[in-house]
Amino acid sequence: MIFIMEMTPHRVAIITGASSGIGKACAWQLARGGYDVVLAARNESAIQNIADKISTLGVNALAVPTDVTDPQDCRNLIEETLQVFHRIDVLINNAGISMRARLIDLDLEVLHRVMDVNFWGTVYCTKYALPHILSAHGSIVGMSSISGKHGLPGRTGYAASKFAMEGFLESLRIEHLEEDLHVLVACPGFTATKIRFAALDAQGKPQGESPREEHKMMTPEAVAKAVFWAIQHRRRDLILTSEGYGVAWLSKFFPGFVDRAIYRTMAKEPDAPFGESMPKEKIPTSD
Ligand code: NDP
Repeated sequence: MIFIMEMTPHRVAIITGASSGIGKACAWQLARGGYDVVLAARNESAIQNIADKISTLGVNALAVPTDVTDPQDCRNLIEETLQVFHRIDVLINNAGISMRARLIDLDLEVLHRVMDVNFWGTVYCTKYALPHILSAHGSIVGMSSISGKHGLPGRTGYAASKFAMEGFLESLRIEHLEEDLHVLVACPGFTATKIRFAALDAQGKPQGESPREEHKMMTPEAVAKAVFWAIQHRRRDLILTSEGYGVAWLSKFFPGFVDRAIYRTMAKEPDAPFGESMPKEKIPTSD
């Protein structure tokens, strides 16, 4: 239930994966920017709690429990938004999960799960929201990653899902080139959220710990501020770190160099599933 506070229509933004991390920060940021916000994720109590707090800013906030892997849930998300607010200006496809294992060790179900959330979740929400965003001359945002610009070892499924998302959104932008559809692909750098703790291992279990120094990372709030700026300025791409820019640019001209640099960097992660840190039992032997 939501009480609509005033009749002057605010612009309306839907954020998937709004129960934590970057999505939650985006919901707050857009609300501070005057948008009514719709929070979607599976954790119903988390999004309701965030929506209640956001409402104190004087905008309307609606929580719609949604599993983005279910097309019906995504359709319902859009329909509920329209019933309450009658318009959609921005859709931020942010819901995402990660994984960490070599393909050779990986249960293929893990790849399906990652693609279902990161890619298909984006497709379903975008498909149902598109006519309304076109009417509003609004924005569709994809929360990608630098692994949508160049592959990452141990993250085949994650990189594939982000490449797929970027190809999908780029094609959509061109399809509607003459209709003022704004499509933004945002690539945060490493950001301190729970994504690495929840990342799936080879068997599909959350790895439970982060292999990286989380305290040195960007904050979700910094990402949200930049995304909000990029929406306002109708930017096509947003890459949030100099390393990200470096990878995106160098990989066009020196892809082999980037392969080796990424391999060396990622191999230094504790328990990396390849390279020097690889647990000894994973190293193939000739026996
Ligand atoms: P979090 O793990 O903090 O948040 C992930 C969000 O996705 C949660 O709100 C979760 O909600 C939601 N989610 C997961 N599965 C589903 C599902 N099936 N249906 C609906 N919602 C779902 O991670 P981040 O905030 O870091 O990640 C947000 C996005 O940013 C992701 O797309 C990620 O790939 C991208 N990104 C993150 C980076 C980082 O370093 N953190 C770097 C680059 C990109 P719930 O569990 O309640 O459903």
